[in-house]
Amino acid sequence: MMNKDAKIFIAGHEGMIGIALVRCLKTAGFNNLVTKSFSQLDLTNQSEVRKFFLQEVPEYVFLAPIKEGGILANTNYPAELIYTNLQVQTNIIHFAWEIKVKKLLFLGSSCIYPKFCPQPMKEEVLLTGLLEPTNEAYAIAKIAGIKMCQAYNKQYNTNFISVIPTNIYGPYDNFDLRTSHVIPGLIGKFHQAKIGKKEEVIIWGSGNPRREFLYVDDFADACIFLMNNYNQSEIINVGYGKDISIRELASIIKEITEFDGVLNFDDTKPDGMPYKLLDISKINKLGWSVKTDLKKDLKKTYIWFKEIEEGKQNK
Ligand code: GDP
Repeated sequence: MMNKDAKIFIAGHEGMIGIALVRCLKTAGFNNLVTKSFSQLDLTNQSEVRKFFLQEVPEYVFLAPIKEGGILANTNYPAELIYTNLQVQTNIIHFAWEIKVKKLLFLGSSCIYPKFCPQPMKEEVLLTGLLEPTNEAYAIAKIAGIKMCQAYNKQYNTNFISVIPTNIYGPYDNFDLRTSHVIPGLIGKFHQAKIGKKEEVIIWGSGNPRREFLYVDDFADACIFLMNNYNQSEIINVGYGKDISIRELASIIKEITEFDGVLNFDDTKPDGMPYKLLDISKINKLGWSVKTDLKKDLKKTYIWFKEIEEGKQNK
């Protein structure tokens, strides 16, 4: 169990998941959180990271995503994704060991699992088949991070755990259409179409792929739970437990944004993995389960987005 005054470093605190982790840790009473902006600490830089760890000596480390993206970002920027993730995780995991942190939580991604595997995906299916080509570079970096944590646990007896999140969404998500995931992408598109009184919204791909979505506060809650309760090298999934098709998702977002035009599907854009539902029985057995509701939380996310957009326009 982490003490309330334990020194906790949250890497990636400027992204959606990192922001939620800081918010949830503060709400839970943790009062010794360490965060560094990019200008204070470039996590890709080995000597800067080493200096930081030697000076700060955090007791716990959460390694939240630093650089990631949706299907188009993975297709267009695979080099940036593999480089940044490998560098950052290698630096952090290694120096966390060197200064003997009590525990580190590494975040993987559900794209590490083979493109075709039995659904829902159990932790054991890792490395049993080929990856989905659109996100292979990113997935390889994440798999390297998991294997690095396991190797350090084995050789150095560290307590480094790897958590596999499903698709996460919520406030502070990346809403840039060129790099976003499907939820912020569709919220942005439907909102613009509604305001601009457009007649159609284009949905990428066939609409048939199925995805599972978890609200970011629920995910942060699960990470804190695992930091306190899970001490094994094997990866552990965190998800919502149910999936929906992109077509169904689009129609929920259509309803929430009150857009009254039509949906059209652009099948020149990739579908990516056909299914991506995680088996969450392992974390359920430990005593954690989902508290949120997809439709309600999509609405909350839209309200947050609308306020930001309206704020921009009033400037
Ligand atoms: P993935 O889960 O790694 O495939 O990444 P995404 O969240 O980016 O995409 C999920 C699915 O939604 C894919 O089949 C996309 O083609 C589809 N999709 C439909 N419209 C959009 C959109 O506007 N943005 C994104 N990112 N994906 C979309």
